[in-house]
Amino acid sequence: MNQNEVEFNGFPRVRLRRLRRTTAIRDLLQETRLSVKDLVCPIFIQEGIDEPKEIELMPGIFRIPLKNLVKNIQELYDLGVKTFLIFGIPKSKNDKATSAYRIDGIVQKSVKTLRQNFGEKIVTVTDVCLCQYTSHGHCGIIKNNVANNDESLKVLAKIATSHAEAGTDFVAPSAMMDGQVKKIRKALDNNNFNNVGIIGYSAKLSSNLYTPFRDASHSTPEFGDRKSYQMPFHNTNEALHEIMMDVKEGADIIMIKPALPYLDLIYKTRQATLLPVCAYSVSGEYSIVKAAALEGWVNEDEVVMEFTTCIKRAGADIIISYHARKIAEILNNP
Ligand SMILES: [Zn+2]
Repeated sequence: MNQNEVEFNGFPRVRLRRLRRTTAIRDLLQETRLSVKDLVCPIFIQEGIDEPKEIELMPGIFRIPLKNLVKNIQELYDLGVKTFLIFGIPKSKNDKATSAYRIDGIVQKSVKTLRQNFGEKIVTVTDVCLCQYTSHGHCGIIKNNVANNDESLKVLAKIATSHAEAGTDFVAPSAMMDGQVKKIRKALDNNNFNNVGIIGYSAKLSSNLYTPFRDASHSTPEFGDRKSYQMPFHNTNEALHEIMMDVKEGADIIMIKPALPYLDLIYKTRQATLLPVCAYSVSGEYSIVKAAALEGWVNEDEVVMEFTTCIKRAGADIIISYHARKIAEILNNP
């Protein structure tokens, strides 16, 4: 287009503001539309409590007893949220995380209860890790003071199989042990659970935004940190390598965690694979917005809708969010 075409009498002929003039025009041309069907709501079920307990670092989010699960899920289902990521907080922990794969464990009982009450109307995803179940709080079996990769894989496979037995739709291994997707796929297939899918926490960055979650799930490491298994947040190529490994090992869905500071990774993952891409907007992302909103510094509803829409715009097909209930309420009452 030459200069004569874009100008008329010295003023711009092309005016992008025409497309922004009214709300109705803007609605017509909106490129990214957030849907309640995009959302996954994390749920914390705690063994040995009678009443819901609010998580101190995540105001508005609760650990709930099993008896409240159906009521809680029904409320979210009525808002249109149909997918749930289940985290269990067990009564007893040990260094081998044995309470993670008990047939009557808290996650296993929760999944059974959900299947009995909701059948195939909802989608269940279970987090597969050791950290909520180990006395030391690490994501693997500790040998010589480090999380031993191959010993941990055996336990992760047992946990995933026990979740499949309980009836989950998807298992989501989050320990960042090498080969975890392959090991779990094999264990599921060997036990006739070839219909159970795997959502790989493929690029789980070693983020400073997990602190409120560790308070929520009682999984703060007793010693050291998780930097020898979670990914450095500085590295793009390494993240893509992790993702391609999970694709090769048989993951059905790829996850990036956290979401908002890693929109570049979400975008690049979207370009690198045809698999669905899931973004996990983590506890720290929730708490930062919540804290600022409680101070009156930002409008929580507007900020949450902006952040979550941008996560989708970057390329996420599925978004795990602690704001799922609020987003659903907003989408139901535009
Ligand atoms: Zn873990």
